[in-house]
Amino acid sequence: MSIPPRCVTVLSSKRLLAVGLLWCAALSAAQPASSIGSSAARAQPLSVTEIAPGLFAHRGHDDVATRQNGGDIANIGFVIGARCVAVIDTGGTLAEGRALRAAIRAVTPLPICYVINTHMHPDHIFGNAAFVDDHPQFVGSAKLPEAELSHSESYLRVLTRELGDVAAGSRVIPPTLLVHGTLDLDLGSRVLTLRTWKTAHTNNDLTVYDVNTGTLWLADLLFAGCLPVIDGSVLGWIDDLATIRALPGVRRAVPGHGPLRVPWPRTLDKENAYLTRLAHDVRAAIRAGKTMQQAVDTIGLDERSRWRLFDVYQRRNVTAAYAELEWEP
Ligand SMILES: [Zn+2]
Repeated sequence: MSIPPRCVTVLSSKRLLAVGLLWCAALSAAQPASSIGSSAARAQPLSVTEIAPGLFAHRGHDDVATRQNGGDIANIGFVIGARCVAVIDTGGTLAEGRALRAAIRAVTPLPICYVINTHMHPDHIFGNAAFVDDHPQFVGSAKLPEAELSHSESYLRVLTRELGDVAAGSRVIPPTLLVHGTLDLDLGSRVLTLRTWKTAHTNNDLTVYDVNTGTLWLADLLFAGCLPVIDGSVLGWIDDLATIRALPGVRRAVPGHGPLRVPWPRTLDKENAYLTRLAHDVRAAIRAGKTMQQAVDTIGLDERSRWRLFDVYQRRNVTAAYAELEWEP
C-alpha cells in the first residue's frame, strides 16, 4: 500500500515556512498503488562499508546514470543510533532505495526515522519511495521542495529515457521536515547536525555532521576524483568551502562522488583549487572580450587528466561560471 507523504513540517532556525504544501497534495494524488514493503523485503542488500562505528556508506559508480549501473552513481548511506536509523540519500532509483533498505535491515532492526536528502539531484533522491512505508520524516533544505518541483518532470523523463524499466516506480518524495540554517536530529545517544549552505553545487545543498564520530557527510559539496559539477554558483561554492574547511572537530569527510575514504582536508583543497582557477580563468576570458563559446573551447583543458568525467561536465561548468560572472561589476 502506498502511503501519501505527510505534509511539510518546518523545524528550522526559528523560521516558519509554508513551502511545499500544495505540491505535497499534488504528489499524493499522483502516486500509483504499489507494494513497496513486500518488494523491499526481497531486495538484495546494497554493498555498504562501515566507515565509522554505526555509520555505513555505499560507493556509487564514477559514471553518469546508465541501464548498466542502474543509476547507482552517488555515495549514499545510513547512520544507526540507539533509538533509530537515519538514511543519507537514497540512490538513483526505487530499486536502489530498496537495496539500501535491505542493507539497513541486514545490520539493524531499528526503525528508520529520518530519510535525509542532501540536495535535489536524481542520483540522490529517487530511492526515497522505498522508505515510504517506514513513515520517516523526509528531511531536506527549505529550498528543496521548490527545486524538486521545478525539476521533477525533466528528471523523471531523463531517468526513464536512460534507464528504461530499471527506473520503474522511481518518483519524487518531497521533504516533510525542512532545514534552514542548522537542525539537530537525535537518533538516540547520537546527534546529527544538519546544515544548509549558500548556493554552491545547487541552491539546496545540505550537509550532515555525525557528532559522535566527527564524520562530515558533505555529499556533492565534495567531489573526490570526479569533476565537481556546478549547478548553482562557483563563487558560492568557493565561499562554502572556506567555511567548511574551518569547521572544528572534523575527523573525516564523505564525498558525494568518489572514494568513501579520502584525505582530509587535502581532497577539499584540490576541489577548491579547481573551482578557484575556473572562476579566475572565466573572469579573465570575459575581461579579454572572449565569447562564452571561446571560453568553453579553451578553459581548463589541462585539468583533463586530473578528473574523471571531465569530458562530460567541464564545458557545462565553464558555461555556468561564465553566465554567473559575466555581469559582475
Ligand atoms: Zn549533485
